Formats: sequence, C-alpha cells, structure tokens
Amino acid sequence: MIHVCEPAIGKEEIENVMDALKSNEISGSFGKYIDQFENDFSRYCGVKHGIATTSGTTALHLALASLGIKEEDEVILPALTNIATAFAVVYCGARPVVVDSERDTWNMNTDLIEEKITKRTKVILPVHIYGHPVDMNPISDLAKRHRLLVVEDVAEAHGAEYFGKKVGGLGNIGCFSFYANKIIVTGEGGMVVTNNEKIADQARLLRNLAFSKEQRFRHHFIGFNYRMTNVQAAIGVAQLNKIDEIIERKRKIAHSYNALLREIPGIVLPPEKSWAKNVYWMYSILIEEEFGLERDHLIKKLAESGIETRTFFIPMNQQPIFREMGLFENEGCPVAEELSRKGLYLPSSVALTESQVGFIVETIKKIRG
Ligand SMILES: *Cc1c(COP(=O)(O)O)cnc(C)c1O
Repeated sequence: MIHVCEPAIGKEEIENVMDALKSNEISGSFGKYIDQFENDFSRYCGVKHGIATTSGTTALHLALASLGIKEEDEVILPALTNIATAFAVVYCGARPVVVDSERDTWNMNTDLIEEKITKRTKVILPVHIYGHPVDMNPISDLAKRHRLLVVEDVAEAHGAEYFGKKVGGLGNIGCFSFYANKIIVTGEGGMVVTNNEKIADQARLLRNLAFSKEQRFRHHFIGFNYRMTNVQAAIGVAQLNKIDEIIERKRKIAHSYNALLREIPGIVLPPEKSWAKNVYWMYSILIEEEFGLERDHLIKKLAESGIETRTFFIPMNQQPIFREMGLFENEGCPVAEELSRKGLYLPSSVALTESQVGFIVETIKKIRG
C-alpha cells in the first residue's frame, strides 16, 4: 500500500530521543529539547515566543484561552477545516461562526467575513488549508477596523509564505500541529507562537495548570496540562533541521504530479497564487464531472491498486454534533460543500518516489479508461 502520508524518522531523531531518555528528562516540566525546540521553531517562523503543547488541538485551545475567549464570544473560522479548529472554540464555551470557502485557494473567502462580524466577535481564525496560505491582508484590515484578534491555524502549512513572509507570524497568534502526518512531526504535539510577551506569558501559565509565580500551589486561573514532553521535543529539534528539505521535497512531488495530471480532463490541480508559497502538505485535487467517474469510485479503485487516498474535510456546518448543538442552522456553505464532495488527496509522503508518482498517475488514467 502506498500510504497518504508517512513521517520520515531518521537517525538524528532516534539519537535525540535516546539522549532525552538517558538524561531522565522525559516529562514536559523541564529538558533542554523543549527550550531548544520552542526557540528554534519560533525563530524559524520569524516570531519571538514559542509555547510547545501536546497537540495542534490543544495549541488552538490554549491560544484562545490565553486571549480570554469565553461564553458569549464569537470566533469566525472557515467552514472547510479539521474539526479541531471548531472544537477549540467550543472548549472555551464560545460560538464558532463559519465562512464559506473561495474557489481559487480553497481557503476562507475573505469577502464573506465582514457580514459575519457582530458585537460579540472577538477573533478571526483563518486556516491555511492543505498548505496554501490564506490571503491575510484583508483579514488584517478587518481585524484593525473592528478591533479583532487574529489567530492562524497553521497545522497544515509550516513554512508556507504569504508575500515572502512565513505564515504563523501574520496575526496575533499562530497555532501549529506536529502530528505524525504534518510537515514536521513529534508524534503528537503542537505549538503556539506569538510576538506578544503578555500572551506568551499567559499561554505558558495556562499550559502548566496555572501554577502561579509568587506561590506554586496557589492558582488564579483554570489551567491545563498541555505540556509537550522533552522526548517529543527531541524529535522536533531533529525534524526542524530538515524542514527546508522536507518542504522542497513536498513541492517537488507536487510539481511532478502537476506535470503528469495536467493533461487529464476533469482534474483540478492544487492552487498556488502569485503571492503564495504553497508547501503542499497533502497533494490535493478536485474531481470534476468532466472526469467521467465519481470521486468515491476513483478512491475505491485506487485502493484496490494499493494507493491510499483521503477525501477533503466535511464542512463544519454539516457536522451532526454542531447541528445537535443548534449551531449553523440553515447555514449553507455551497463552495465548501462542493469542495468537500469533489476533493481528495493523493499520497504525499516525503519518501514518495518519482516512479511511484508515475505509477499513481498511470493508475488514475487506467481507471478513467
Ligand atoms: C491536524 C490539524 C489540527 C489538529 O492538530 P492535532 O495535532 O491533530 O490535534 C488542527 N487544525 C488543522 C487545520 C489540522 O489539519
């Protein structure tokens, strides 16, 4: 089976983990790799502070909690995203408000944000979907005019660039995931990055059960245990050393797929705007009617040939749990829903070879007939 995405763990990761274990620094309370990973990764993003967490989901929750997001507040996010983005809002007791996608980049349509802003809106939470940056300038303008905060969900786009600047440092906070299939991995893990020292201090406090500085066991906030362990950070440090190579490889794979798939009618290739550097987290395509076969039929046939694929996310406005909660009633997001029906991603591991890319494309052609 050619899997959708597998991590590339090498000698350096294994050596670092052994070193962390031998030093007995195995928790998230102390250890040299935690500091190093936070410093190096935040510097990589061009941001001052990094707070490592247990996952991308907890990074998002920690970010919103550090901003004081609570009941009655509203957070605007794209309909098409990983459920974790919306869950983080719900964990705060706040209300997720969804925006439809735009056709070009599959990201949130920035023209549709302003009509969703109310007195209760506190945060705009753009997601750089599948590795392509969101058009951030209109979001920054809206945030300035309406006095809102911007939290970027960068779980799929480490190293992606917007007008030459890395995403994650374009808003008030950036939230990353290092889950096993992300651009760089720690197994499970995440990070909050910010240039704001106050937000960084609050995030550090809340990450660690809100043990107060003046007296350890006296607490002024509801905190969480969202500490990344030194063992995980040890993997992260080794991965970060390779991030440029990983992204280059992702881009090379995407360019190879593009060149071969371009001639097949009914396949829409992934976007890359002139102002963007796409890191192609997953090589994503749309299957249009012209292709002649249903997307799900193609997926089934590819699986029979040993090629694993994945459909796009199901939009938040169509999630049963949110419907049950009374959210998004009568809320249509036609573009997100269409992308969700037509989209799939092909194998995208950094270890994928050119001949495997060729085999996958030939298989698609054969299935189409
Ligand atoms: C993966 C992902 C998350 C969640 O990250 P975990 O580390 O799996 O908790 C959040 N948002 C997006 C867009 C993701 O792709």
